Amino acid sequence: MFALDVQGLIKIYRGGFQALKGIDLQVEEGDFFALLGPNGAGKSTFIGIIASLVTKSAGRVAVFGHDLDRDPEGAKSCIGLVPQEFNFNLFLPAIEVLINQAGYYGIPRQEARIRAERYLRQLDLWDKRDTEMRRLSGGMKRRLMIARALVHEPRLLILDEPTAGVDIEVRRTMWSFLRALNAQGTTIILTTHYLEEAESLCRNIAIIDQGRIAERTNLTQLLGRL
Ligand code: ADP
Ligand code: ADP
Repeated sequence: MFALDVQGLIKIYRGGFQALKGIDLQVEEGDFFALLGPNGAGKSTFIGIIASLVTKSAGRVAVFGHDLDRDPEGAKSCIGLVPQEFNFNLFLPAIEVLINQAGYYGIPRQEARIRAERYLRQLDLWDKRDTEMRRLSGGMKRRLMIARALVHEPRLLILDEPTAGVDIEVRRTMWSFLRALNAQGTTIILTTHYLEEAESLCRNIAIIDQGRIAERTNLTQLLGRL
């Protein structure tokens, strides 16, 4: 079974712009996968569809065997999404952002607190647990969003441009956290327009350009050509 199985995926936005022009892509369970491409290539659209935030126009998507049309709840329960932008819950303390999110998945409050505290520690946010989200720096918010995406312990973590605009130290913290998470079995897909990020983290890579998969390769092959 694939972590992600996408066939013939098409997205036409209202107004007629075709952002995805027939994407076929399979990602193996346990993979650390990069979707690499320039701005406007269709990366966020692709991820938005997988995470049920954007409607698709045609095609088939299955997440760990859960078809997005026939079993959307099953698919959603397998996915944690770290969006590129976040401007919700701004007045909540960091720990409450996590406990709230756990509540959304029906996780009892006591268990939610245990998980929230664990991720705050692992992501180097323990000192900020009572700080309101709006008072956190960009890099802290980004790490909090990773924790938020993990509270229901999804099998697939999807990150949209996770380190865009964060400094090198935060980037390192995030990278080592993600490597360890993947080593423990969580499948990870990230989008990036930094080749360096794909290079440093990912085993398999798809290059997306103008709504099509231009290339599907692995790190060894990619580096061999540079
Ligand atoms: P990327 O994440 O690779 O930068 P996006 O998926 O955000 O690319 O965008 C792909 C293309 O679709 C871009 O040309 C963008 O302008 C367009 N697009 C994105 N969202 C919408 C929308 N809601 N309506 C119309 N066009 C959109
Ligand atoms: P859907 O087909 O999934 O319902 P919509 O076409 O309704 O998506 O667009 C979602 C949102 O994205 C709208 O609020 C729209 O204003 C916004 N949007 C429109 N054009 C663009 C664009 N070029 N890039 C990014 N966002 C856009």
